[in-house]
Amino acid sequence: MMHLSPQHLIVNHNNHTNMSNSPLQQAFYLIIDKDHFEERFKRPFHDNDKVYATDRHIMIFCDKENIDFEFENSYTVNASAIVPEPNTSEIIDLDQHDWKSLMTADEVEYIGKEVECGNCGATGQCDGVEFYKEKKYDYTYECPVCAGTGMEETPKEKLTGRKTFEFYDSIKFKNSYFNLRLFYKIKQVRDLLGGDIELVSYTTYDKAVLFKIGYCHIMIMPVMSIDNCVLKINQTPTQP
Ligand SMILES: [Zn+2]
Repeated sequence: MMHLSPQHLIVNHNNHTNMSNSPLQQAFYLIIDKDHFEERFKRPFHDNDKVYATDRHIMIFCDKENIDFEFENSYTVNASAIVPEPNTSEIIDLDQHDWKSLMTADEVEYIGKEVECGNCGATGQCDGVEFYKEKKYDYTYECPVCAGTGMEETPKEKLTGRKTFEFYDSIKFKNSYFNLRLFYKIKQVRDLLGGDIELVSYTTYDKAVLFKIGYCHIMIMPVMSIDNCVLKINQTPTQP
């Protein structure tokens, strides 16, 4: 059970992006959301000839032969089935925007780890039994130890001193909206790997979009509820 605020996602993963890791490895672990996902997705995974990393909203992948780092994950899935077919070729310049000015939130990291409540088994609820006139009544009540949270201890927030994007800020790219924090990862991957960002598949506002950076592809899912759009780029001109 996770009981953390959305800001928990803004954890700095320095332990996965230190200098000894290859740029490709850093790029793959940048995409993984290691705090909020099933165990099998906390590492890259593979299918027949490709290696993937994802947080379910954004996914990076490349051919296995290009992978220059080791990872252990027996999980395999045919992720290629959800990747859209290439249908365009357009170089996207993400360097012309002032991303830093959009980073208005304090970045936090978390110290310590979650400890599940032993009294209620992390459910937050306790079971009780009451007998009245020889009839048995089952009932549940809020766990008094954890006050219903399921956690005896949660990680403590610590400011890193850096700035980051507001959690729900979004960006409009062509006709689609994306979470700004996730979309920016496309530029971060390019900064790691070098080269151009090429848009290779775009259809409609509600469909996955595919980019190519060197021998890697990045697929990103649009968001349907737009909270706060702070930047509009590469907009498709509306027909008169
Ligand atoms: Zn409890």
